[in-house]
Amino acid sequence: MALIVQKYGGTSVQDADRIKNVAKRAIEAKKAGHDVVVVVSAMAGETNRLLALAKSITTEPDERELDQLVSTGEQVTIALLALALQEMGQPARSFLGTQVKIITDSAYSKARIQRIDADIIFSALKEGKIVVVAGFQGMDEGGNITTLGRGGSDTTAVALAAALKADLCEIYTDVDGVYTTDPRICPNAQKLPKVTYDEMLEMASSGAKVLQVRSVEFAAKYKVPLVVKSSFNNNEGTLITTEESMEDVVVSGITIDESEAKLALRGLPDKPGVASHVFGPIAKANINVDMIVQNISAEGLTDLTFTVPGGDLPKAKKVIDQIIGEVGFKKVEADQDVAKVSVIGVGMRSHAGVAAKVFEVLSGAGINIEMISTSEIRISVVVKKSQGKDAVKKLHDAFGLGK
Ligand code: ADP
Ligand code: ASP
Ligand code: MG
Repeated sequence: MALIVQKYGGTSVQDADRIKNVAKRAIEAKKAGHDVVVVVSAMAGETNRLLALAKSITTEPDERELDQLVSTGEQVTIALLALALQEMGQPARSFLGTQVKIITDSAYSKARIQRIDADIIFSALKEGKIVVVAGFQGMDEGGNITTLGRGGSDTTAVALAAALKADLCEIYTDVDGVYTTDPRICPNAQKLPKVTYDEMLEMASSGAKVLQVRSVEFAAKYKVPLVVKSSFNNNEGTLITTEESMEDVVVSGITIDESEAKLALRGLPDKPGVASHVFGPIAKANINVDMIVQNISAEGLTDLTFTVPGGDLPKAKKVIDQIIGEVGFKKVEADQDVAKVSVIGVGMRSHAGVAAKVFEVLSGAGINIEMISTSEIRISVVVKKSQGKDAVKKLHDAFGLGK
């Protein structure tokens, strides 16, 4: 007998029939003799609907109230799933993040889980119940409801699996596993049987939304056995593991992130302390800066360009407006018409020439590179949003990843 945490995403709980399908699958695992905890997302589109509702009332919603609002999507699906399980004769109990006691920090809309007091789950499992937990949400020390960032139900599932010392965490979604790139962009993308935690971390943080990046961080840190599978069939999924592939693969995947925005500060004085004057207040406002490029200075002035999550652009602009006088730069330019395309693979550690090939492919396709950043196993470029998907396709072909 094992303890299994299963997570079902929005499309897998989109309507009553799909919720019944999830109930059936959870019961199968229970009948196979396992203890089963199911984490669910809100119905597909619900979180966006709630966010749009808030926007129709105010352009700058209070962050606490926004989390209070968007967390409701998951309350609906946990209750419906518990009802479906009970209707099929399976005792079940649903819990909100606050009821489980998923304690987070107070960073609304991107809260981090600090601890989970899972006693209530163990008691319900002991009574033979399937436990259903709301994804995406938690509670801070002050009792305020928080959410974990878009796609956060993945993180709820993996964090719960770690806290419960589960034998397995299964992420059920609308594709068969992790692919060489988003199969919606390249229909010839191939499913990867295995991906290393390092590669998956890079893929997730570069836009492959199949797993939220923090879920992969938790899985790597607490050694949670993690698989990604489809909720619509029984095909073998993708195992996220420490093992590297025996084959000589240099590039495992290509990702695209269309949600970032680029900010350029023009005519900054090129002197010590300027970067810290800019990025200090941005970090304080809880905004994650991704790429940073500083130009060579001319006449003591330079340009500083960086990317932030698109959703944080208004907040970032506000911070910049407050420091413009103090730091003394000429102007700010914001650009949301960008896409970040990344090439990822652990094989890059031991193979030279990947970057050169990326640049050659993009130049051959007439795609201009606006920014570049690299890690040991990733090369990312920022291009015009309208050329992002084309860049993915060209790179996917050039690295021989298609079927
Ligand atoms: P869920 O609602 O189940 O959490 P998501 O929409 O968050 O599902 O994530 C699954 C989607 O991620 C897929 O439908 C696919 O379009 C997208 N995706 C992006 N990159 C990849 C990739 N490399 N492999 C698989 N899916 C990917
Ligand atoms: N419902 C949340 C979202 O849409 C969380 C999730 O689906 O994982 O981002
Ligand atoms: Mg998701």
